[in-house]
Amino acid sequence: MTDNRIRKIVIVGGGTAGWMAAATFARILGPEYAGVTLIESDEIGIVGVGEATIPQMATFNRMLGVDENAFMRATQGSFKLGIQFVNWGRQGHTYFHPFGKYGVDMQGVSFHAYFLRLHQLGEAPDLDEWSLQAKAGQQGKFMRAIDAGRSPLSDIAYAFHFDAGLYARFLRGYSEERGVIRREGRIVDVKLRGEDGFVQSVVMEDGTEVEGDLFVDCSGFRGLIIEQALKAGFTDWSHWLPCDRAIAVPCESVEEWTPYTRSTAHKAGWQWRIPLQHRTGNGHVFCSQYMSDDEATGILLANLDGKLLADPRTVPFRTGHRNKLWIKNCVAMGLAGGFIEPLESTAIWLIQSGISRFLTMFPDKHFNQADVDRYNRIMTTDYEEIRDFIILHYHATERDDSPFWDYCRNMEIPERLAEKMRVFRSHGRAFRENEELFNDTSWFAVMHGQLMGARSFDPVAEVMSLDETRSRLAHIREAIANSADYMPKHRDYIRENCAA
Ligand SMILES: Cc1cc2nc3c(=O)[nH]c(=O)nc-3n(C[C@H](O)[C@H](O)[C@H](O)COP(=O)(O)OP(=O)(O)OC[C@H]3O[C@@H](n4cnc5c(N)ncnc54)[C@H](O)[C@@H]3O)c2cc1C
Repeated sequence: MTDNRIRKIVIVGGGTAGWMAAATFARILGPEYAGVTLIESDEIGIVGVGEATIPQMATFNRMLGVDENAFMRATQGSFKLGIQFVNWGRQGHTYFHPFGKYGVDMQGVSFHAYFLRLHQLGEAPDLDEWSLQAKAGQQGKFMRAIDAGRSPLSDIAYAFHFDAGLYARFLRGYSEERGVIRREGRIVDVKLRGEDGFVQSVVMEDGTEVEGDLFVDCSGFRGLIIEQALKAGFTDWSHWLPCDRAIAVPCESVEEWTPYTRSTAHKAGWQWRIPLQHRTGNGHVFCSQYMSDDEATGILLANLDGKLLADPRTVPFRTGHRNKLWIKNCVAMGLAGGFIEPLESTAIWLIQSGISRFLTMFPDKHFNQADVDRYNRIMTTDYEEIRDFIILHYHATERDDSPFWDYCRNMEIPERLAEKMRVFRSHGRAFRENEELFNDTSWFAVMHGQLMGARSFDPVAEVMSLDETRSRLAHIREAIANSADYMPKHRDYIRENCAA
């Protein structure tokens, strides 16, 4: 009997993608099933940004069996309850996109419908009052959920901010302990097999070759195997998401570690602010067609909390994805597979989903084409659904103070998104489509937050009398306010549980 099992996995790249893949293979498959070699070049280094996540990250930690407090300590992490968007719908306007849900659905009708009914009567001006994450976030409070019956404290959705370099190091330790072999050095060539074009080996600068059955390309934007050797091609979305550069810089952290990411829109892009224990990460994502590097750097440096800790660094990028993320015996993950700008912190999740979907279709040496096709189709859908959600932030705006915003406001958008916007504008309905990452709460938060305005509310909200609606919403608001009051300060919670 021939052994068709994958025995040798070669991961090219030791950034977040490479080490997340290595850690997962080590954990799930183990060294007896397949040996894993990871190659990275210290000279090339990692992209070194990518420090805000979404709640699914906790599932990844659990899958690895990693203690969350140990992970927080090792990565100088902080907690994240959502994203605060400043100047997006219009200048001077702020909203919060929280994790978790607003209020509670009642009588089979979504909470949003009841809220909009009161909102349109002028009785519920602030949606944040019905989200514990938004309320606590704005008060600088945080704790993990506790067993508190029907209290909002029983269900607190959160994610993490962490130092990307420290995270790669943390996962490296985890992976090496479980048998992953790390090789340092630069790959200078990729050899393909003559008979079928499968990848045979990668060639190191010193001339040695590393052979494998399966190659995982985590080499970053360059796509060393998937693009340079296998010519996957690229689907470019820069006409919908025109930002193509970022300037990143860390600064000293301030006393208050806000438990949320802040995203502030500027003239031709936006600025992130990610508080960590030892520093605050900042960056200005912008469109080079409308702004120079110098201007973008100037705006960034004028909007920092504290003293610079390093020189500003430019990161050019291209929005879109490889036409195929899995070709023959190579699958691309992370930036090698594609990139959608970091507005909703989705890139690390795309790595996570790429790895877990790949494991459900894990190949043998025959590399069944039906699995490959299915993987490519599903991953492409993941990218497209996130793309639409991000476009929404740019397109649904009243901003008309720069050519960049004029372009975004007036551009043609994908039909799927256009339909979602039409549906919202009529009765304020927001839906999660199929298995898409962002649920109805997220769509509602951003559509409402971007000041889209629905003409009416969902007529089914009238299943409840107006008085009953007022009383129930007041009750929920009070429960959330009390819960937020009860929570400790974010900084105190970290000090007590996971200080680095
Ligand atoms: C501006 C910006 C902000 C971002 N913010 C977020 C965020 O907040 N949240 C989020 O989820 N994601 C974010 N991302 C995305 C996130 O940074 C990446 O998804 C993540 O870091 C994974 O990167 P990577 O491992 O794919 O690539 P890299 O970190 O670039 O790693 C590539 C690896 O390949 C190796 N390599 C390359 N070529 C060779 C060679 N020839 N020989 C040997 N080794 C080689 C390098 O040494 C390196 O180890 C952001 C991205 C950008 C650009």
